[in-house]
Formats: sequence, C-alpha cells, structure tokens
Amino acid sequence: CGIVGYIGSRDVKEILLQSLEKLEYRGYDSAGIAVKGEDETKVFKEKGRIRDLRNKVEDDFEGKVGIGHTRWATHGEPSVVNSHPHQSLDGRFTLVHNGVIENYVQLKEDYLEDVNLVSDTDTEIIVQLIAKFAKEGSSTLEAFKKTLSLLHGSYALGLLDNEDDHTIYAAKNKSPLLLGAGEDFNVITSDAMAMLKLTNNFVELMDGEVIQVMRDQMIIQDLEGNDIERESYIAEIDA
Ligand code: GLU
Repeated sequence: CGIVGYIGSRDVKEILLQSLEKLEYRGYDSAGIAVKGEDETKVFKEKGRIRDLRNKVEDDFEGKVGIGHTRWATHGEPSVVNSHPHQSLDGRFTLVHNGVIENYVQLKEDYLEDVNLVSDTDTEIIVQLIAKFAKEGSSTLEAFKKTLSLLHGSYALGLLDNEDDHTIYAAKNKSPLLLGAGEDFNVITSDAMAMLKLTNNFVELMDGEVIQVMRDQMIIQDLEGNDIERESYIAEIDA
C-alpha cells in the first residue's frame, strides 16, 4: 500500500495514476484518487488494479491538486467503500492513509459516537476527527495536529481541504513518506520510485512532523508549531 499527492501546474489525474502504478507492488487490492476541482473534491475509487481504477476516472473533471492510494486492506474487506481516499461526511476533507491506527475503536467511542461511519476502515476515523475539530472552530492545520496527537499506530497521510486550493497536508509515523520538489510543483509519495519521472530532488520527512505542501514551497513544522528547516538532496537512481 502506498500514497501519493501532487500539487502543481498540471492536471493531476494521469500523474497520480502513473505514480500509483509504480506503488502497486506495495499492495493492490483496491485503489483510488481524489481530484480537487474548482468547487468540489471528487473521489474515484475501485476494487482491483490501477487499470480498473482508470476506467472509473472521469476524463473531463480537472484539478491541479490531488491525492491517491493503493490499498492493502488491514481493517475492512477490500471493497469500493473501504478503499481510499476517504471523505468527511460534509465532503470538506479527503484523506489517504498507509498504515494501521491501533486505537481507532477507542477514538470512535470517545469522539465520534454520533457519527455514522461509511466504511469499516481504521482510516475513516482520522478524517471524521479532523472534520469534527474543524467544525468546532479549529483551522485545518490545528484540526490535523490535534487529530495526529490522538493517533496510536503507523501512518503516512495525505489530506485535502476543499476550502483550500493551495495546500496538501501530510504527516508520517513509522510508515514511509518522501517529498519531491519540482520547478512548479511538489509531490509526496511513499516511495522514491513513484516520483522519479517527475523529479529526483527529494526532501526527507520525519516522524512527528506536519508538512504543508504547496505548489512553490513547503512548510515543515513539529507538532508544537516550530518551523523545521530541511535541505533537499538529489538522488542518483535510475527511473
Ligand atoms: N489500515 C488502512 C486500511 O485498511 C490502510 C491500509 C493500507 O496501508 O493500505 O484501509
């Protein structure tokens, strides 16, 4: 299983699909992408391989910000509903997750008693928590951080906010996640191979960091909000 996110100057659909094809070896019982259009963040997902997902994606829905996922199910059977991206009930937030949230049952009981979850995944808890904290008045960054502080387990996360055209939020704990820096785009993926066609200029991300990925910059902070400076490096790998 693996995740990908792209923000830049080109339509994201083909970029996400090609990156997912490179991640398929990590897990492939289902896959999906989310494309942030002008008014709406649309999710396309399908059971099976990336080529099955391709048939589901609407060619004429365009966006320059998006996230994608190839799944290897740990909680909830492989199905369209359980595949990622997952969306908050209000449609505002869209999330991909690689990993396992160990305390998701407890979090559901403590915070989401009144929420009718759509899927059987551990992942959906994360996006519904973010939406809950945002509804209560937190900024997206605060809601994301607050949610991260409650999670026990492993994750690489990519998050879209339908009210923000300029940012992909990301974080990791014990699951791999890398940032790739381009001329007029930035990309995140679980694996360097998935972005080599786009860039070989990488930025390493660490556990406990929150990353705001924008088209022409990224902001890395710790959970307390302190800025972290990190140089990029050129990786000498053949695509
Ligand atoms: N635990 C999540 C699920 O089962 C993510 C699995 C993965 O990393 O693909 O949906």
